[in-house]
Amino acid sequence: MLIGGKFVEAASGKTFPTYNPATGEVLANVPEGDKADIELAVKAARSAFEKPAWRRMTPSERGKLIWRLGDAVEQHADEFAALESLDNGKAVMMARYGDVALVVDMFRYMAGWATKIEGNTIPLSVPYTPGAEYLAYTLREPVGVVGQIIPWNFPLLMAAWKLGPALAAGCTVVLKVAEQTPLTALRLAELINEVGFPEGVVNVVTGFGETAGAALAAHPDVDKVAFTGSTEVGKLIVKAAAGNLKKLTLELGGKSPNVVYKDADLDIAIPGAADAVFFNHGQACCAGTRLFVEKQIFDKVVDGVSDKAKKIKLGPGLDPSTEMGPLVSDEQLNRVCGYLESGRKDGAKALSGGGRHGNKGYFVEPTVLTNVKPEMKVYQEEIFGPVVVAVPFNDPSEIEPAANDTVYGLAAGVWTKDISKAHATAARLRAGTVWVNCYSIFDAALPFGGYKQSGWGREMGHEVLHNYTETKSVCVKIA
Ligand code: ADP
Repeated sequence: MLIGGKFVEAASGKTFPTYNPATGEVLANVPEGDKADIELAVKAARSAFEKPAWRRMTPSERGKLIWRLGDAVEQHADEFAALESLDNGKAVMMARYGDVALVVDMFRYMAGWATKIEGNTIPLSVPYTPGAEYLAYTLREPVGVVGQIIPWNFPLLMAAWKLGPALAAGCTVVLKVAEQTPLTALRLAELINEVGFPEGVVNVVTGFGETAGAALAAHPDVDKVAFTGSTEVGKLIVKAAAGNLKKLTLELGGKSPNVVYKDADLDIAIPGAADAVFFNHGQACCAGTRLFVEKQIFDKVVDGVSDKAKKIKLGPGLDPSTEMGPLVSDEQLNRVCGYLESGRKDGAKALSGGGRHGNKGYFVEPTVLTNVKPEMKVYQEEIFGPVVVAVPFNDPSEIEPAANDTVYGLAAGVWTKDISKAHATAARLRAGTVWVNCYSIFDAALPFGGYKQSGWGREMGHEVLHNYTETKSVCVKIA
């Protein structure tokens, strides 16, 4: 683990295995950091936050370091893609041209912001000091020591989404990576040292959620926690953060509606609806898992999506011909298969897939379920696997209540050639992102985050910088 600029074992000396999800075999053993290691990492981050090497570094220098980190990742792009594919299971091409490319872009985008975090000058009218004059302005200062807790579905990308803005704002960080996928963040930690960040600015701890993660969320000397993961754990983090009222941002679950109107271009809507759910094996919080299709084209669309599902080539992530790898862990395999079983019992019909694929590794068949009812678990709950429920609708007026009938509000998709219908639907959906005639389009400049129980705050874009800065008002009496 990286603590205070040095690579260390866990204080307890314990390690834990990370597995290859395509085979179930152990890939590597990594340090099992816990409360004691979080303690050391927070101390290192606090000390780095106070030292001039970081605190007094010019924004331009800070930006250059972040840019260099992007360059370093790019130089090792193939290596990162292979590591990510091995540890997470995703197809290596996806990791290389999706995840790693976005990571590089994220660091470069955030490098530019380091020199552009500005306050305002504000004219005052103070009614109880008639005749007085003031110069008032705001400063935006780094929030301090930040704990970042990330999931396993996009391990390196989530590290970049979190580290980029924190570093641009001048914070210091303790990053707790997911126990299922620690490898790419550890490699990134080596590059963080190589490009020259002062020691302790970024600390990377591997370990479990209930121990290391919980200790970080509750730590009294952490000023802010940024968390991406399940809504269930998000609620635990809220409770843990209450002790010192640390600032909190949360990017949580989703059960995103994807709406296909009868006037859509089905040549793009059908593959688009398939990709919306099967991208990253459905292990994406924004996955389009509730597919609403206008009645007249329902059969055509769901048959088209299930044909696509049947043709997806499953295999180990490192095989370049693989289109879909295994789920990340046996726990996820059991969870997703449990949902498929519950759907079957409740009367849902699988047009494609419906179960585990093979008996080695954690593969699940891409699945399209019809005959579903709003009260079913498969309709309401986030499955986090390659499973979509398809539901017909009779009239566009049904979409707003049906699509918004969920505790989540992360993302949504709309497919139509009618520009008014597209914008009207986008306006009515209670979701942090609405994609029209496309899906899962991410960019470092485009804010991402959730309404309702999908989270607090936004990641990416300049919006994210508010999460990592405090606004200080300075008021000077000049006359
Ligand atoms: P999933 O259920 O998909 O594995 P989680 O929300 O459990 O997602 O995990 C996301 C991240 O949260 C991981 O880094 C995990 O270790 C961490 N985590 C899990 N439980 C806790 C907890 N009680 N406190 C803090 N972090 C936790």
